[in-house]
Amino acid sequence: MSKRDYYDILGVSKSATQDEIKANYRKLALKYHPDRNSDNPEAENLFKEAAEAYEVLSDQDKRARYDRFGHDGLRGGQDFHQYSNINDIFSAFGDVFSGRGSIFDDFFNMGGSGRGRQRYSGERGSDIRIKLPISLEEVAQGVTKTIKIKHYVSCTDCSGTGAKSGSGKKTCSSCGGSGEVRQVSRSIFGQMVNISTCPTCRGTGELIVEKCNTCFGESRVQEEEKIQVTIPAGVEEGNYIPLRGKGNAGKMGGPSGDLIVIIEEKEHDVFTRDGNNILYNLKISFPSAALGDEIEIPTLFGTEKIKIESGTQNGAVIHLRDKGLPYLNSYQKGEEIIIINVFVPKKLNAREKEILKELSESENIKPNTKSHKKDKDIFDKIKDFINH
Ligand SMILES: [Zn+2]
Ligand SMILES: [Zn+2]
Repeated sequence: MSKRDYYDILGVSKSATQDEIKANYRKLALKYHPDRNSDNPEAENLFKEAAEAYEVLSDQDKRARYDRFGHDGLRGGQDFHQYSNINDIFSAFGDVFSGRGSIFDDFFNMGGSGRGRQRYSGERGSDIRIKLPISLEEVAQGVTKTIKIKHYVSCTDCSGTGAKSGSGKKTCSSCGGSGEVRQVSRSIFGQMVNISTCPTCRGTGELIVEKCNTCFGESRVQEEEKIQVTIPAGVEEGNYIPLRGKGNAGKMGGPSGDLIVIIEEKEHDVFTRDGNNILYNLKISFPSAALGDEIEIPTLFGTEKIKIESGTQNGAVIHLRDKGLPYLNSYQKGEEIIIINVFVPKKLNAREKEILKELSESENIKPNTKSHKKDKDIFDKIKDFINH
């Protein structure tokens, strides 16, 4: 993108005096100020462009190099900022706008949103992270939980100022109340102004005369609070729910951090979660498998009767649709997958042994020894189960 000529941008001639340059820049800055041009990116770009032009033309050395070599004579970042932030412009050129009765003061009296060079207010409070264990049943239905946390809240006795009421605060003498300190240094490229936060008042511009008795000047106190958090159905381990502003209050009236509730899944006694499906291992007796049966099984939504077909094999799988976990923000649900295990008893009494012995000679009880071919179906199921 080719750059516009700096003189054209500011609407001045090549022989313009510093006063003319300054005056025109003020005019443009007021015209294109974001507070007067809300949601107008074009105005914001013109505002930044004017700031860059002013930065170069207001400096004798940079202006001379620009006059001789054009834009190529300048080094971006050293000779001008790539402004991304409106507040930067005001901090860099505070002296154009500040001073008694200046245009800058008019800005704030215009009754707009008052954007511009922002007075530093306290730092944002920290986030708090807590783990919340929930059961699969709760994942299935969604749940509202009350959690108790200890966090910093703004001190009500001093309204978060840290100062004893009545005694108040005094202007910081190190920075004169601006909250910033300026350091001017000279380099071969010209004068550099370095602006940093005042270390004495930590940018607030004020110092406490007498500390608040409740928070001892800290502006915040620790408090226990019960907070309700609603967990939607279908969440999983590691999901988190941010509760904005429920973390620690910032110091000196700074905004509060967030409370971040991290979901932890409790191990279930009988179910294993597999994505949105629920795996359940069902043991049935040999007679149930051979003869067929009706068996009551647990689900996440109460019990359910399922039919076992006669001749059901070990490792057979039954799918119960819609008895799995819901998908987040959807009406769809996974399945409960029932894996059948035919139970082989370890202890038998004399009568049971007798019956089984008699049965073992019966023709349909023995597996077919002629075909010891591998049962592909069973291996596939086992592989599927392991790899799932
Ligand atoms: Zn200060
Ligand atoms: Zn206090």
